[in-house]
Order: sequence, then structure tokens, then C-alpha cells
Amino acid sequence: MCRRCSGAALATFVGFPKQAVEFTHGSPTMYHSSSTGRRRYCRQCGSSLSYYDENDPNSLWLTVGSLDHPGEVNPTEHWYATDTVEWIHMEDDLPHYPEYPPA
Ligand SMILES: [Zn+2]
Repeated sequence: MCRRCSGAALATFVGFPKQAVEFTHGSPTMYHSSSTGRRRYCRQCGSSLSYYDENDPNSLWLTVGSLDHPGEVNPTEHWYATDTVEWIHMEDDLPHYPEYPPA
């Protein structure tokens, strides 16, 4: 689903406490991508901005590509690592999970 919603081969997110995030320019539009998932997009350019899941109500995940300084985010793990397109080869030492990391 992240791939379809981002329109890219990979989607990269960074999580924040939901209360710590405020959209200060305009109000993004929301798409219900599943029964519990909510994705927000820029109303003007359509950029994918965030993901929220009702099952994790205290977190808000921002798309790294939408940040002013995406290079300052250091990846820590790969989720849905077995669901990549064939030409993606993640050959780093980060933990790879078939879906989410164990709770
Ligand atoms: Zn925009």
C-alpha cells in the first residue's frame, strides 16, 4: 500500500509522537487507505505527507521525502522487506522485517 500511495518503489517514513507534529502551511487532504489507516497529501501539489494508523494512535509517520532536510534522517530498519520490487536490493546491515518489527 505504501508503494501505491507514494507512487514510488519504496516509501520512507519517520515516526513522531502525534502531538509533536503540526502542519503549519495549509491543511492536507486525507485519504482512508484502510479501515484504520489515514494518509495525508498536500492539496496543492499532491505530495504524500503522512501516515497515521488508529492502531497506533500516539504516532504520526511523516514521509521523509516531504521533509526540508531528508538527508538528516538515518534509516534504522526495513519494513515489508520481502515485498519489494525485483530490482531493489537492500544490502545494508539494517534489520529487515517481512512486515512490521516485533512489538
Ligand atoms: Zn505541496
